[in-house]
This record gives sequence, structure tokens and C-alpha cells, in this order.
Amino acid sequence: ESKAKLQDAEKVDTTFDDVAGLKGAKTELQEIISFLKHPDKFDSLGGEIPKGVLMVGPPGTGKTLLARAVAGEAGVPYFTITGSDFMEMFVGVGAKRVRDMFEKAKEKSPAIIFIDEIDSIGRKRGAGLGGGHDEREQTLNQLLSELDGFEPNAGVVVMGATNRPDILDKALLRPGRFDRQITVHLPTQEHREQILEIHAKNKKLSDQVDLEEIARSTPGFSGADLHNLLNEAALIAARYKRKSIEQQDIDQARDKVMMGLKREGIRLS
Ligand code: ATP
Repeated sequence: ESKAKLQDAEKVDTTFDDVAGLKGAKTELQEIISFLKHPDKFDSLGGEIPKGVLMVGPPGTGKTLLARAVAGEAGVPYFTITGSDFMEMFVGVGAKRVRDMFEKAKEKSPAIIFIDEIDSIGRKRGAGLGGGHDEREQTLNQLLSELDGFEPNAGVVVMGATNRPDILDKALLRPGRFDRQITVHLPTQEHREQILEIHAKNKKLSDQVDLEEIARSTPGFSGADLHNLLNEAALIAARYKRKSIEQQDIDQARDKVMMGLKREGIRLS
């Protein structure tokens, strides 16, 4: 099972400039960045940094991006696992993977650990279909014991992401664990435009393309959907062998992305 193998820490160069909007989240995370840059300074002042920060919000709204940006801004290694990877593991493998990751992160501290889809591990225990899910419970128990096992200000900050905070085991949210919550929202029209601006930087758009107009016509789109839209438009333009992406390519791409969202029954009504 290759997914069970621990990936080495990544050095990321994402910064807050890559993240449009989400001002509140950025402000909250600024404190953690300062801490990761100078853990010793925080210690001497007696301030305690949260060990775990839970980012809550719909899919594609920038939770992963924020976690990477925190690592990039602070210049610390970034370790990541995805909750759903654990579903196909044999009993004991997930727990070992969690243990190994914390060990490595502590070795390389200060560091960020990011756990995407934390609800797949952190679902309420004993609530599975037809009784316990041994593998998941062991993994969750390991995660809880790792969180409890290091001192506050040890230099490791764990960031988790979920769009289902309601199904999380309350044990995860206790003080000293994921006791800080950050909510991210779908972007407003203004933020959609800013997201488009960021992702248009490496695209060749015709002068006729109006990002404000695209932002206006994409209510309900997440950052990921907008990223997707520009990629699709580039592919369509390539298919027509155009020199740059035209408004009609954007329109076609938007229809395609919208159809996908409708099919999945999400957001757009
Ligand atoms: P999921 O819950 O599906 O894991 P997520 O909230 O972690 O989603 P990301 O993976 O961070 O979402 O976002 C997907 C992509 O969408 C990003 O890589 C980025 O290209 C784009 N994106 C999302 N939000 C923003 C934003 N605020 N600014 C710029 N780009 C964004």
C-alpha cells in the first residue's frame, strides 16, 4: 500500500499572496506564523500557541491552500496526510503512519502537519455502520495521543480541514487538541474576481476577456471551481488552436463546470 508510506516533508513556496480574500482566516493564522518563525520568543513571553487548528468550510474554498501558505510564510517544512487515504489500510497501518509523521515533524520542528478530510479519521467513534471500524478508531486514537503527547509550543502546529465538523468526535475538539476553529466561506463576487486574477497570471487571456464579468456570472463557485474554469477554457482554446483564450472559451468552460456542479447536486440550484 503505497499510500501508507510517509511522504517526506515538503518545502512549499506558497504565500498569502496566493490566497485571495479569506482575510479573517489570514489574520488568525498570522499569530501561528509568527510563532513558527520564532518559537523561543513566544515561550519567553508565556504565550501558548494552539496545537491544533481546525479549518471548516465547503470543498475547494482554500483550506489546503491556507495550510500551505502558513508553511510557506513561516518557511517551515510541511507534512500532509489525507483522511480518506486511511480507509483502505490494514489495521494498524494508519496508526503507525500518524505516529511516524508526528515523529518526523518533531524532529524537523518548527513544522506544520496538515490533515485533509480529517472527518474520515475523526468521525465519532462507534458510530460506524454495524459497529466499530477498528482501523479508523485506532488511527483516531493514535492522533489523539500524539496531540496530547507533545508540549504546547513544541514547534509543531497541526492544521486539519473538514467540511463536516458536525460528525467529528468531540474528543478531537477538546482543549489542547483542535481547540481553535477557523471558518472559510465561498468567495463573494469581489473575491471571485481576485481569485481569477491570481489564476489568470499564468494564462494567456485575450484583451476582450473581462474577469469582473466572469466573477459576476459565477455565483456559488468556489476557488477550486474558478481555477478549474480557467484551465478548461485554456484547453478549449487550445482545441480551437487559438493564440489566446477568448470570451467564448470561457463561456463554454463555465457551462461545463456548472454542469458538473449541478450533477453533483452541490451549491448551484
Ligand atoms: P477540499 O475541501 O476539497 O480539500 P480546500 O478547501 O482544501 O478543498 P484547496 O485545495 O485549498 O481547497 O483549493 C483548491 C484550489 O482552488 C487551490 O489550489 C487554488 O487553486 C484554488 N483556490 C481556492 N480558494 C482560493 C483562494 N481563496 N484564492 C486563490 N485560489 C484559491
